[in-house]
Amino acid sequence: MKNYTIALMGNPNVGKSTLFNKLTGKRQHTGNWAGKTVEIAKAVYKTNKACYHIIDLPGIYSLDFKSPEEKIAKDFLLSEQFDAVLILTDATDLKRNFLLTLQVLKICPKSILCINMMDEAKRRGIEINTKGLSKELGIPVITCSARKNIDNVKEAIEHIENLEDKALLLPKKEEICEKYITYHKEPITKTEKHLDKLLCGKYTAVPVMVLFLALILWITISGANYPSLFLAKQLTTFGEKLGELLLSLSLPYQIYGILIDGAYSVAAQVVSVMLPPMAIFFPLFSLLEESGFLPRIALNLDKPFKKAGSSGKQALTMCMGLGCNAVGVTGCRIIPSDKQRLTAIITNSFMPCNGRFPTIILLISIMLGHLTSSLLSAALLTVFIILAVIITFFITKLLNRWLTGDDISVTIELTSYKKPQIIKILTESFIHKTLHILGRALIVSAPAGMILWLLGNININSTSPLVFLSDFLEPIGSFLCMDGTILLAFMLGIPANEIVLPIAVMIYTASNNISAVSIEEISNILITEGWSFFTALSVCLFSLFHWPCATTLLTIKKESKSIKYTLLSMVIPTAIGTVMCICVNLIRFLFTF
Ligand code: GDP
Repeated sequence: MKNYTIALMGNPNVGKSTLFNKLTGKRQHTGNWAGKTVEIAKAVYKTNKACYHIIDLPGIYSLDFKSPEEKIAKDFLLSEQFDAVLILTDATDLKRNFLLTLQVLKICPKSILCINMMDEAKRRGIEINTKGLSKELGIPVITCSARKNIDNVKEAIEHIENLEDKALLLPKKEEICEKYITYHKEPITKTEKHLDKLLCGKYTAVPVMVLFLALILWITISGANYPSLFLAKQLTTFGEKLGELLLSLSLPYQIYGILIDGAYSVAAQVVSVMLPPMAIFFPLFSLLEESGFLPRIALNLDKPFKKAGSSGKQALTMCMGLGCNAVGVTGCRIIPSDKQRLTAIITNSFMPCNGRFPTIILLISIMLGHLTSSLLSAALLTVFIILAVIITFFITKLLNRWLTGDDISVTIELTSYKKPQIIKILTESFIHKTLHILGRALIVSAPAGMILWLLGNININSTSPLVFLSDFLEPIGSFLCMDGTILLAFMLGIPANEIVLPIAVMIYTASNNISAVSIEEISNILITEGWSFFTALSVCLFSLFHWPCATTLLTIKKESKSIKYTLLSMVIPTAIGTVMCICVNLIRFLFTF
């Protein structure tokens, strides 16, 4: 069987990942904003006759060496370690796409030009004369809609042997556009113009962004309530049955304790508290991503971030951090300047990830007491996120002054609006994001539950190590308007933020064998333990600003290649959180005085 290597090239956001996934069966991240493919992905597409190694290069606008991605792509082209290039373009934005196309053809005539998004082009009344274009450029030109059908691409790849390595007489890009593209309608529809006015308008942009954020959080909080209760009930019943089974086997009590009160109880809390909000938040977020809302957020935040010495691209990485900080840190590769990238990496954990959301929501419900309503909770959570954004601006400004390196000015490229594929978003975000992150949390929480149960139930001098440590930390905890137990839980929760509250609950209940799975049960335990409005507020702030989880720290170390900056990304948020908690304690003191 013959082997061929094909380089997949194109501007960001033209559908490369979609095509790559369809061709090879892989799961590259897709989304409607520029620069999310930050790594070179490789995979194989096999037919009866040949084996094609597809290399998905990062999306770039030109080969001018301005960004690390452009360098990677150009180096790859010059290395000639491939048989052909598949240049993918967006039919709705060919003018911009032809700059890169012509640059690639100059270096590598053995190319196929594939014009994607034909469904969208048809809708917008764009007609492309592919035959004429193919003749003019001297290479095969095909069309496709990568979301739906890529038969044309498969057929073209099969004839890759026929591509000739000849000097091409290339026309100017303006000439091509004039000769071979006909616009039967206005390129941007009226609705899109109105939407852009609303989403990016001088006075409307910020309120609309905040409202959208609050809306998403409200849907997440109110939608998660009932499934959370249901899951907690089912998991409690199942846990009881499992416990009875273990007891009937006459196993020693310790085994029962480790497995049921330790591993099962912590894992059940993680599932019932984390799964419903994640399952709702991720698809909603993907919806915004796929429809083209995210780049508009980046554009709106470009000005304030530029004032802080960075760019709106940092806003994109912060949005990714709302899902998972480790993903946000990796996403910082879209920022071309080393200095700005490092700043974005260090500050990414200020954004509360999905492992912290449910904890903060639960704490808000304690803060609001009987006033709890999902609308109020969403509003308060929005305020917390806005606070995190403001602190990010502030620290970004300080770091950019302090760090050395070049400032590379970047422009935010607005992608066109696209109709999102609801079913695909629902299934993909559930399987690849929700279950993936939940799985990661469970892998950590079950063994952590076992170890913690042991630490909570072994008695040394009539005190368990957990109680000893929490007593030891009590003075510091009280100074921060928290207590020793929750501070210990933050420290032991470093493997994953999801397990912080379950650890605290386990320490609180270690002596009296109460089990808690649902949000209500957990908050009842915390209130019984003397948590007040101010305790919950302090814990909330510390949850927002403290050291990142182990996965994020490892990612920061990998991306920054520096222990110093990894440590800095632990110290900065912790220092901010500490100062905020001390302030809360002072306010509490003034209130009670
Ligand atoms: P990449 O940045 O080049 O890897 O682009 P992606 O594969 O992530 O696609 C960018 C956006 O375009 C995503 O929202 C895709 O769902 C969407 N997309 C990809 N191919 C098509 C297509 O043929 N038609 C339409 N309408 N959208 C597409």
